[in-house]
Amino acid sequence: RGVLYVVATPIGNLADISERARNTLNTVDLIAAEDTRESGRLLAHLGVSARLVSCHEHNAESCCARVLEALGEGRDVALVSDAGTPLVSDPGYELVSAARAADFSVVPVPGPSALICALSAAGLPSDRFVFLGFPPRGQSQRLELFESLAAEPGTLILYESGKRAVATLRDLAAVLGERRAVVARELTKRFETFLSATPAALAERLEDDAEQRLGELVILVEGQRGEAAPDRAEQERVLRILAEALP
Ligand code: SAM
Repeated sequence: RGVLYVVATPIGNLADISERARNTLNTVDLIAAEDTRESGRLLAHLGVSARLVSCHEHNAESCCARVLEALGEGRDVALVSDAGTPLVSDPGYELVSAARAADFSVVPVPGPSALICALSAAGLPSDRFVFLGFPPRGQSQRLELFESLAAEPGTLILYESGKRAVATLRDLAAVLGERRAVVARELTKRFETFLSATPAALAERLEDDAEQRLGELVILVEGQRGEAAPDRAEQERVLRILAEALP
């Protein structure tokens, strides 16, 4: 039976490809790629000439069928996305879960991911974090999401496009107020930039300077610090115990 390898690829700097990723891409029979043209460029750079099959969110079913068939015939397949780790705000979930359901081995070949890359150098607390992927595009859903996380102590990490970053930072400012935040842009690339300020100040900075909206970016916001909000259920439990203990 074939093996499905989930292979992380660089998020900008091609030198970040791992030796194991390179070897895996060189030896598999088939590469399932989000965008065959985009991955074709990376594969050409690596000198890999495996057969490519397109696997994106609009053809998940036919892609799964093709890949499972290849695995069933004993051929090894690598899943890659345009950049970073597949399944992280990228296609692949249906394929991995179908391969596991059919009892094929699924082997991760780890490597870059923009969220971990940003967190590792942003200077915000990293012991606990919540990854939100891309926030909803509608403002009311976005505000609702941020409100549901207002008491979260972990660092919040979001993916966003340069075009929508100012609106998202404004909503973060409106709901979460004055907190430390970071915009990590163009990671591993020539114009890599980390801007640190409050969400409101970052919104203003990006609004005023179009260059800071170019390329790809990750937004990080510190979680709620200090006194944790009282836990009602816990308070009630303690009160019940005390009431029972009283004569
Ligand atoms: N699978 C990828 C990963 O593991 O990070 C994420 C793919 S998602 C479609 C693309 C988003 O990731 C971008 O909009 C941006 O928020 C973030 N991103 C990817 N590469 C980046 C980079 N070099 N610098 C900053 N953000 C990046």
